[in-house]
Amino acid sequence: MAPTAAADTRQAVLSCVRSSSSSQQIGELFSVDPEGSTPQQWADASLPYNTRLADEIGPLAIVYPRHPGQIAAAIQCADSNGVPAVARSGGHSYGAYSLGGSVKSSPKASSSSSKLDTPRPAEESLIIDMREFRHVDYDAKSQLVRVGSGAMLGELNEELERHGRMVPSGSCPTVGVGGQVLAGGFGLASRAYGLLLDNLVSAEVVLASGETLTVSNKHHPDLFWGIRGAGPSLAIGHSFTFQTHPMPQTVTYFELTLLPRALPASEESAKRATALFSAMQQFRASEHAAPDLGFSWHVTPESTGTEWGTKVEILGQWIGPQDKFDAVMRELETLLRKEGLADFELGKREMSWLESMHNTGGDWTKIADRGPLNVNEHVNFYAKSLLTKHDIPDSSMQAHMTRLLSLSAHHNPSTNVDWFVLSPYLGGESSAVRRHFSGAFGHRDVKMVWELYAKRSDNSHGQSGSNGETDLVEFVNVMAEDLGVVKAVYPAYVDPELGADRFGEMVYGDSLPRLQGLKRRYDPSNVFRQPQTIRAEGRGWGGPVRDWLLILGALAWCCC
Ligand SMILES: Cc1cc2nc3c(=O)[nH]c(=O)nc-3n(C[C@H](O)[C@H](O)[C@H](O)COP(=O)(O)OP(=O)(O)OC[C@H]3O[C@@H](n4cnc5c(N)ncnc54)[C@H](O)[C@@H]3O)c2cc1C
Repeated sequence: MAPTAAADTRQAVLSCVRSSSSSQQIGELFSVDPEGSTPQQWADASLPYNTRLADEIGPLAIVYPRHPGQIAAAIQCADSNGVPAVARSGGHSYGAYSLGGSVKSSPKASSSSSKLDTPRPAEESLIIDMREFRHVDYDAKSQLVRVGSGAMLGELNEELERHGRMVPSGSCPTVGVGGQVLAGGFGLASRAYGLLLDNLVSAEVVLASGETLTVSNKHHPDLFWGIRGAGPSLAIGHSFTFQTHPMPQTVTYFELTLLPRALPASEESAKRATALFSAMQQFRASEHAAPDLGFSWHVTPESTGTEWGTKVEILGQWIGPQDKFDAVMRELETLLRKEGLADFELGKREMSWLESMHNTGGDWTKIADRGPLNVNEHVNFYAKSLLTKHDIPDSSMQAHMTRLLSLSAHHNPSTNVDWFVLSPYLGGESSAVRRHFSGAFGHRDVKMVWELYAKRSDNSHGQSGSNGETDLVEFVNVMAEDLGVVKAVYPAYVDPELGADRFGEMVYGDSLPRLQGLKRRYDPSNVFRQPQTIRAEGRGWGGPVRDWLLILGALAWCCC
């Protein structure tokens, strides 16, 4: 059961919100909370996208502002009652951070968390749901699009398609614009156009002080820099204006799959998969890995009908027609032959830009089907993201593949775990991700984003599934074991298991010290706090206080 929030704190926050509404004449601010709403309403509004954490979150109340004045009132009521103010846009946070995050601190056995370095637990928070800010307004003259934080990526893409324009983003249609642009936003087109945040021209934000600002390279450039990578730590954005690009006429989607499609678990399979990966590493280093080519490494269990094997493939897209794509791929095919790999299948298909988004994203029908109070998609999962900035040696890759082949061979629906590895390549000298140095996204030298993902097949809620099956966190930690020590993670794939000591540099990279300065300046009382938001050094659980507690903890541990 989620811990019950102190009813008096909740009442104090909500009555503050009500009295600000009438005294400041900002209109009534609709809210849902466990005491004032029906149990069904509260359950609907507060169920996280990631239902693994459904029993661990403890939002105090959820408010649904309709204009910036109401956001400001909610922030100030949270702050004056010592409660964190947390925005929710599309609600897809991997760690349920848009509901405050897990109020339990329970690190799983992990190679990445030491005994003393436990995740920072969340606090019961006031949730500011941004769904009413859902506008998508394209201006043909300036070719800019102004989008509400609560609009979904699919809505943005569909509206721009009507004007023959595009903005690069992740492909999941129901992810919120607000949550993605403030952390990153990559897709198969990122090597050509950069991250979603690289295309941001200005943002309209509400500060901890309640002040509303428009930030851009001209106005408050320091804050504009900071929100592009660490937005949730610094402000609540309600509208974002992006530059747009002409929509590509044609995209060629491809899948290059090792045969047989369900590889058996054997040394030979591990060697062949490693050879494919090695060819991909050489190919992407070559000049032919042009920015118009986006590709990902993909591994997942595949059934032969009678038993389980492993599907190993490179999938991706070329922005352009198939004849040009064929010329680009010839070099990869030559490399494959050099690696002794003849047994593979190359499927390819030309499609429109929007079709390519549909092809790589989730369920687009969910856009129209959005629940009245919350997202209506829920998955029980754990994922770890590792950013690699160097090539993976063959020896590590072969050990990794041996492990995955064995996991697939033991795959069984009764274990209630489905998994995949999906690793987009964002790097290369010509990549737009590398060329942009404009925001606080701290990992411009990234080569690949490794997503190691496991979910409950039956979608039951909670940590242990319906029958106490394999722990998903432990499962993913095992998947990651041969890939080396994790030094960097992708900010938009929040890993709630990261220790409080380590996440700062891993998430924010070299941008961390400057971001701490911005935090001191724009959110001195730390009202925008979540388990992995930035704390200004020297304040609260982020500086000396934490260090002293760690020293005391170490002494207690050593001496007991
Ligand atoms: C199915 C799925 C597919 C995905 N695919 C991709 C992909 O292809 N590429 C990619 O880059 N990422 C991808 N992601 C990750 C996704 O970009 C992040 O989870 C993103 O943060 C979700 O945004 P949201 O608005 O839906 O989430 P939310 O849960 O609403 O917000 C996420 C975080 O941002 C904060 N936040 C939200 N809105 C605001 C605001 N207005 N002001 C300040 N802080 C705010 C929240 O407090 C929270 O900390 C995917 C996630 C899922 C679940």
